[in-house]
Amino acid sequence: MSEEKSIIATLQPFIQEGWNKSGFKKPTTIQKQSIPLILQGKDVVAESPTGTGKTLSYLLPLLHKIDPGKKSVQALILAPSQELVMQIFGEFQKWSEGSGIRGASFIGGANMKRQLEKLKKNPHVVIGTPGRTFELIKQKKLKMHEVKMVVLDEGDQLLIPEHADIVKNIIKTTLSDRQIALFSATLTSRTEEGAKSLANEPEVIRVKKDEAISSSNVDHIYFVSEQRDKIKLLEKAARLKGIRALVFVKDIGNLQVLAEKLHYKKLQVEVLHSELKKIERQKALKNFRSAENNLLLATDVAARGLDIKGITHVIHFDFPKDVNQYVHRSGRTGRLGESGTVISFVTDREERELKKFAKELKIPVHKKVFYKGEITDERSKTEKES
Ligand code: ADP
Ligand code: MG
Repeated sequence: MSEEKSIIATLQPFIQEGWNKSGFKKPTTIQKQSIPLILQGKDVVAESPTGTGKTLSYLLPLLHKIDPGKKSVQALILAPSQELVMQIFGEFQKWSEGSGIRGASFIGGANMKRQLEKLKKNPHVVIGTPGRTFELIKQKKLKMHEVKMVVLDEGDQLLIPEHADIVKNIIKTTLSDRQIALFSATLTSRTEEGAKSLANEPEVIRVKKDEAISSSNVDHIYFVSEQRDKIKLLEKAARLKGIRALVFVKDIGNLQVLAEKLHYKKLQVEVLHSELKKIERQKALKNFRSAENNLLLATDVAARGLDIKGITHVIHFDFPKDVNQYVHRSGRTGRLGESGTVISFVTDREERELKKFAKELKIPVHKKVFYKGEITDERSKTEKES
């Protein structure tokens, strides 16, 4: 038996069956490193690039440890957006099949009464956003005393000031012998310190690049434009054949204006941001996932963790605030070795920033232009024109 197979072989039969059904050839690097540690009961703080299979890195050992014979909540998974919680819950359902393990998801905006009904069914695994989860704990509806594991997916985002206090308060409601596992694609030293103060002598894992997965399938290109002309570029991009793009826009007001302008041009676009109702957010994502629309305009709520098949392009319409944001947004395409294109629309000033990011990330970025509805190099355009 190969070394890789043997990790899966240490897990419960229902997980092995799921693995065989998944068609996955072998565990990814982060899976190989984190699964044994979590099984041993160690706290883990892990960094691994976007799209390298972090979800199963914690979900498989977590499921392995659940005792379905008990009635208590034994594991809690926190994630920073409603969409990500629902996605993780989907993975939970798939991988827990036939195990008798019950799970429940809790997100803001959802009907409280229905959420309380879910708790009455005695879930073993709870997946939630911090706000709603803490609300349920405070109301004493969600009992934490038998929680043996807390996972912070997109952990660095959960430890930014906006969420950190709630997350810490949630962790404080668990007994001190619980295990903590934190995962992110970008682990700053500040997050690492923050995590270390919550966890118990955690093992720190840093996977820089998954050697099994070549990230060179993702092209990084950019177009230079004045801010006000970026919409023209977007319109051209939207008309590229077969494009399915996730477009990042900084603020909700601009996003809505942009969507209206594109609708007016007869382009089908979906929008996703935090001021929409839960049901509208779900519908936007569903329509986009089922490829009825070719553009999804989103704020950074969509930057983290979403694993959507077939995103051909990520477009930074508004420039990311820092290099980590560039990494997370861009990571929505080219998942697990698939190909993809990352496009940045940049002003002159942003072009300089982008070049700095590229240098830091050690990726080549290429300047492009549109010519007759196609993306080309600048040089070939002038050649054709002259
Ligand atoms: P991350 O959290 O690191 O961004 P995900 O956990 O969302 O990545 O996984 C990305 C994709 O890779 C998912 O579609 C998942 O089903 C798939 N995947 C996970 N593990 C493997 C594996 N060992 N082999 C092939 N595909 C995998
Ligand atoms: Mg993830």
